Amino acid sequence: MKINALVAHDAAQPLVSGQVSLRALQKQDVKIEILYCGVCHSDLHMARNEWAVSEYPLVPGHEIVGRVVEAGDEASHFKPGDIVGVGVMVDSCRECHFCKHHEEQYCEAGFTATYNGIDKYTGDRTRGGYAQSIIVDQHFVVSVPQNLPLAGVAPLLCAGVTVWSPLRHFNVKAGDRVGVVGLGGLGHMAVKLASAMGAEVTLFTTSPGKGDDARRLGAKQVVVSRDAAQMASCQTSLDFIIDCVAAPHDLDPYLATLKTNGRLVLVGIPDQPHNSPNITPMVFRRLSISGSSIGSIQETQEMLNFCGKHNITAEVETIGGEDIEAAFARMLKGDVKYRFVIDMQATRW
Ligand code: NAP
Ligand code: ZN
Ligand code: ZN
Repeated sequence: MKINALVAHDAAQPLVSGQVSLRALQKQDVKIEILYCGVCHSDLHMARNEWAVSEYPLVPGHEIVGRVVEAGDEASHFKPGDIVGVGVMVDSCRECHFCKHHEEQYCEAGFTATYNGIDKYTGDRTRGGYAQSIIVDQHFVVSVPQNLPLAGVAPLLCAGVTVWSPLRHFNVKAGDRVGVVGLGGLGHMAVKLASAMGAEVTLFTTSPGKGDDARRLGAKQVVVSRDAAQMASCQTSLDFIIDCVAAPHDLDPYLATLKTNGRLVLVGIPDQPHNSPNITPMVFRRLSISGSSIGSIQETQEMLNFCGKHNITAEVETIGGEDIEAAFARMLKGDVKYRFVIDMQATRW
């Protein structure tokens, strides 16, 4: 079956409307009519082949919210009409240590990405959420709380869980002093989620104009990272930092803001490496630098339930699919407030 989608045909060309095929519904699958799909910076990295792994034609999109329209014979968790989400993974080996312990994102065989992965049934590349429909194994589908506006839910499926997972894994708790670097899609969710957990949030931004928004979203302090005096004012004050920047930058000024035993978690994946950090302050204050990859299906459901309870969604600007290139261009300038979301029903294919 063919569906409409936004397709990248190579790294240098804009995305265009086209048709792609859906795999046949398997017993464990659900077919989802996509209502909204968030525009993650990873989609831009992938459309432009900035990580040198893209295979074309490529259909980006891994922040998917939609309605179940069909369920396979053994897909008993969902029924037609259910509102569901799909994030960055659509399959994994299910047998390794990590799959068996609800950490599919670290599957030893590598998880199957929602797009540009290999579909085990067809051998073809998986295609993502910038499309009318998707077919996904029910294990990789989550339930969406009924009280939340759906356009704002879509970005939770990647941006939300990517910051939720390290906040939970490293036991960030009420009263902790948490830094967030970069107020974009991931960063604004980190500000919202960490402050809802009771942490005291400091936002580091390169954009002085985002200060009021950051405070409205929950930040207690806003620090313009290019201002040395502002950076100096928060030395050795934070327990934990989550760095959500999509471009290479110097990590040392952020390490300087951590207290003894502090941790800097990197979730941004720039196309070029950051400078190597200075080891000396790491040694003398027992600092750690960690990475973190998205979040598990279980964590995604927990995060959605938490968002339902606390009425948290992303701040979104909805667009039609035909505006995707303009959205990418604004994203590159850091001019996103704070996630573009494609409205599939408003899209002119
Ligand atoms: P985004 O919405 O474009 O936000 C990135 C923010 O970084 C910008 O808004 C900007 O905030 C800040 N920034 C500072 N200098 C920048 C520069 N030179 N170029 C671009 N941004 C700059 O991106 P996102 O969707 O949140 O994604 C952020 C990164 O996380 C991307 O690299 C993405 O691929 C990666 N990612 C990783 C995972 C994972 O599993 N680890 C999951 C999803 C995404 P200020 O204006 O406040 O400075
Ligand atoms: Zn993403
Ligand atoms: Zn596995």
